[in-house]
Amino acid sequence: MIIAIDGFSSCGKSTIAKTLAQILKLPYIDTGAMYRAVTWYFLKHQIDIKDELQVYTALNHIILRFVRDGDQNVLYCNGSPLVEELRSMEVSNMVSEISAIPEVRIKMVTLQQQMGAQGAVMDGRDIGTVVFPDADFKFFLIADPEVRAERRYRELLEKNGTTSFDEVVTNLAHRDHIDSTREHSPLRKAEDAIEIDNTFLTRDEQIAVILKYLNSESMPGQK
Ligand code: C5P
Repeated sequence: MIIAIDGFSSCGKSTIAKTLAQILKLPYIDTGAMYRAVTWYFLKHQIDIKDELQVYTALNHIILRFVRDGDQNVLYCNGSPLVEELRSMEVSNMVSEISAIPEVRIKMVTLQQQMGAQGAVMDGRDIGTVVFPDADFKFFLIADPEVRAERRYRELLEKNGTTSFDEVVTNLAHRDHIDSTREHSPLRKAEDAIEIDNTFLTRDEQIAVILKYLNSESMPGQK
C-alpha cells in the first residue's frame, strides 16, 4: 500500500506520516529530508547552483539511504547520518531554491519511487501528483499559517533556541511561495487527494480521520 501525504511546510505532515507508518507497519519516507540532505551537501561543498556541471557532478556523488534506528528512520548521506544538520536555518533558507532545480527533482523522484515501490507512507509536496500518482490513498494537509509558524518555532526552540519567530514566519512564506510556483512539479493538491485542515486537530484526531478513510471503501476518486 502506498499512502501519499502532501502539504505546505510545517503542516505536521511528518508527525502524521510517521505515526501512520508505525500503525500500518509500513516504511516511512520523509522526502523533505532528502531535499534537505542535497541542500546540506551543496552548501557544504559550496556548489554553485547556476553551474550545471557542478550541480550534475555533485548529484552524482550523493548517495542517500534511510537506516532504521529504533523507531527513527535516519537519513544517511554518503555513509554519514544527518539529523540536526537537516533542520538548520541555513538549510531551510536554501532548500526550496535547490529543490526547484529539475536535475535535483529527477534524481530524488526516481530514488523515492524505488524506495516506496514495496509500499510506504511518504510525505512531501509532489507525492500524490508526481512520485506516486497512483498511490492507494492521498491526503493533503493544510493549516493556518500562524499556527504552522508557531508549531515550527516551538520545535526549533526546543532544539537550538537561536531562531526568532519572525525568521520562521519569513522562511515558511518564502518556501511556500517557491514550492508552489516552481515550474517543475510544484506543490499542489492532487485532484483525488483528501484535504485535511488540521489547524484545530490534535495528532490523534488527525490519525483517526485518516484511519477512517483507510477503512472505508468510499474514499472519493481512490482505488
Ligand atoms: O518537508 P520539509 O519542510 O522538510 O521540506 C523541505 C523542502 O524540501 C520544502 O520546502 C520543498 O522545497 C522541498 N520538498 C520538495 N518536494 C518534496 C519534499 C520537499 O520540493 N517532495
